[in-house]
Amino acid sequence: MFPRHEVPGVLDRAASAGVLGVLVPATGGEDLDTTLGLAADYPDRVLAATGVHPHEAASLDAGLKKRIEQSLNRDGVVAVGEIGLDYHYMNSPREDQLDALGWHLDLALEADLPVVLHNRESWADLEGMLAERRGRLRGVCHSFAEGPGEARRVLELGLWIGISGMVTFKAADNIREMVAALDPGRVLVETDSPFLAPVPHRGRQNEPAYIPLVGRRLAEEWKKTAEDVASNSSAGFRELFGVSEDWPALSKGSPAGSL
Ligand SMILES: [Zn+2]
Repeated sequence: MFPRHEVPGVLDRAASAGVLGVLVPATGGEDLDTTLGLAADYPDRVLAATGVHPHEAASLDAGLKKRIEQSLNRDGVVAVGEIGLDYHYMNSPREDQLDALGWHLDLALEADLPVVLHNRESWADLEGMLAERRGRLRGVCHSFAEGPGEARRVLELGLWIGISGMVTFKAADNIREMVAALDPGRVLVETDSPFLAPVPHRGRQNEPAYIPLVGRRLAEEWKKTAEDVASNSSAGFRELFGVSEDWPALSKGSPAGSL
């Protein structure tokens, strides 16, 4: 999440790059109100996802669950996220992460909203949780970095795959191999900002204006035009998050990504 005073500049630079709308996921109790506030303040170009990131899973008590449930009715909330599992950092105990993920998935089903899913070194458990709800869940496995087999499984489960700036990294042949086997019609282009800035900005703060760099790299891998990749991703974004053609309201362009 960017400091609030940086937001107008971030949005303007995104718009100049053709990225006219963004989806901002909450990560926990601390930034939930900020995220909802952004969607309220910039209704024509910011949407929000509500939920608790696996890093913060241990903080999901009754009070926070209530806040998240109430946030489902707020303007601009189109998804439950960012939720999932992260066994790399294990900032919350595994059991807490599994409990939190199950609670969020069932909340999304009840509210009929898609989910934005995080996964790091936790694929087997995540797949199990998703498979239990197969055929009912909608969502995207964001910044996906598993292999071609896992990617196929995501699609079989009826979910989308989000590809971030990692696909541009020199050493990321594994991501490009996974991407090459994917149906471009099931891929969303994303930033995962402020993390994972694509080359040539790698290592610096990422922002939605860099989405075209990710899209261009995908276009190379698929031997398509960048315009095709952008319009596929925008169409997928609209379909998954239920966003109408008149959003974003600025002018013609692509909705995508995260802030
Ligand atoms: Zn994530």
